[in-house]
Amino acid sequence: MAERLKASLLEEEKLVDIVVGPDAYRDLPNLIEQVEGGQKAVNVLLSREETYADINPIRLDGNGVSAFISIMRGCDNMCSFCVVPFTRGRERSRDPESIIHEANYLFQQGYREVTLLGQNVDSYKWNMNSKGEILDAAKPTLNFAGLLERVAQVSPLLRIRYSTSHPKDMTDEVLEVMARHDNICKYIHLPVQSGNSEILTKMNRGYSREWYLDRIAAIKRIMPDCAISTDVITGFCSETDAQHYDTIRLMEEVRFDFAYMFKYSERPKTLAERKFEDDIPEEIKTKRLNEIIALQQKHSLESNQRAVGKVHRVLVEGTSKRSDQHLFGRNTQNAVVVFPKEGYNKGEYVDVLVTECTAATLRGEAVK
Ligand code: SF4
Repeated sequence: MAERLKASLLEEEKLVDIVVGPDAYRDLPNLIEQVEGGQKAVNVLLSREETYADINPIRLDGNGVSAFISIMRGCDNMCSFCVVPFTRGRERSRDPESIIHEANYLFQQGYREVTLLGQNVDSYKWNMNSKGEILDAAKPTLNFAGLLERVAQVSPLLRIRYSTSHPKDMTDEVLEVMARHDNICKYIHLPVQSGNSEILTKMNRGYSREWYLDRIAAIKRIMPDCAISTDVITGFCSETDAQHYDTIRLMEEVRFDFAYMFKYSERPKTLAERKFEDDIPEEIKTKRLNEIIALQQKHSLESNQRAVGKVHRVLVEGTSKRSDQHLFGRNTQNAVVVFPKEGYNKGEYVDVLVTECTAATLRGEAVK
């Protein structure tokens, strides 16, 4: 937004005094000073180094139980539909010591779950360049598997999640670390985008249908109880009916527990905008989207039905929106579980026997 609209925001619309890009946090005091001196202020420069290490956010709107920790910024992948590489800049990883420090701090503040955030967490690298070559032989290196293990060791009572994985970079090493630690949640968001290899090539995703299915097989082999969710884009440039049905077949094969599903919509400045025509009519995009949503609803319901009759460890996040006599939280697979409040509180782990479900929610009773 800031890069794209800076001229119109400042000069044409005259809506704001300061336009600040995502990498200019540290410049805010100077920018405010400029405005106090009667000028407009702009800093939308993207940095190759800024990772916001040492800037610990004050969490005003959090639930006091779960928090996000940014572990890297930017993305080098250049998926053809995506604007992130142009707005967030090149990929850079945050100092692991500052990440561990933040996780420790949050745990001491009473938080019981952290989600490690990055556009592509699997390519987290410390003291290595993008090819994995060591930058400073005198200092330790760390990849995402190593970072995950270190955060998991902060406390067995601190749950760890992460987002987002990239299928081309997700290693068995990461899966094995997840399997070794009970407090790393058994849930992976692995965006597939399309089930057809030609469309994946056009999207510049860096993997094929077969590669993706191999990664799914690895997850199921190493962690049979791991939930998997995905992102799907339907109606990408030139997508045929047959290619759309490849996506449907892949969904039937994997049976995702959850999915975020979208119609393709062109973004300015992306590779797809420059190279391909957005040529799938709106009504076909809608029809395809409705098909995948209906299929996913069925799979989500089946996934929740498999959870019925079992005891799940739930981290309580708060009072249910529908009833103040009920609490809600999530199990390790990231499914929402609702149960009677009784004497339990936010931030506690409670074992809940699930007795019924919808496609979106599990319901049950605490097991004493
Ligand atoms: S879709 Fe994700 S991996 Fe691809 S360019 Fe965008 S942020 Fe990077």
